[in-house]
Amino acid sequence: MSKRMCPVCGIGVLERIPSTITLSDPSGIEKTIEVFEYKCPSCGAEGDLFGDNEQTVQKKYAEIRAEAVSSMLEQFSGSKTSFSAAERVLGLPQRTLSKWKNKSVAPSAGATALMRYIHLFPWLLEVADNKFEKRGAMRIHIAAAMRDLCDMTKATDVKSVSAGIVENPNNAIFFVSMDKSSTLPVQAQRTATTLGKLMVNQGACEYTYET
Ligand SMILES: [Zn+2]
Repeated sequence: MSKRMCPVCGIGVLERIPSTITLSDPSGIEKTIEVFEYKCPSCGAEGDLFGDNEQTVQKKYAEIRAEAVSSMLEQFSGSKTSFSAAERVLGLPQRTLSKWKNKSVAPSAGATALMRYIHLFPWLLEVADNKFEKRGAMRIHIAAAMRDLCDMTKATDVKSVSAGIVENPNNAIFFVSMDKSSTLPVQAQRTATTLGKLMVNQGACEYTYET
């Protein structure tokens, strides 16, 4: 390869220096690639002076995305939603998810972002299945948040969870109530008594589900 001239000063004959770049991904994948940088002995300019490394970096990022999406879809395989159902609600061509999973087709950056969201928040598929209708989406979101909240309390004996808005003339509170066993515990009795004194805004925001 013939020597390249410095694009900064125009007189220096550049020195080609091998270097490495480590690329990382939110899913924890890390890859190191070998690139070349240049250094000018005349003016001292250094780095990727011609932008040669960009293509190598983008190609490697595409590989990383393919691996990340494939791994997310491996985990998705165990869920109760089928690939074909997910493709239908997301408007993706048939077999897209299988192709991403077996890495025969590389997902775009946008598709990867979509898969990351669905991996984090599987209930987004339910939102899509509901045609992205806003009120329905809010209900699905809140129910999912309550489920997560319940998990975060690490309560193992929760039988059911309900939530809603309780109002009196001056204020309103959002509540989440967990029924923990068949015999009503003291705390729940106290809560029930407290709530009894307040006016419950029926229908405004009330959800119940079984854990
Ligand atoms: Zn130079």
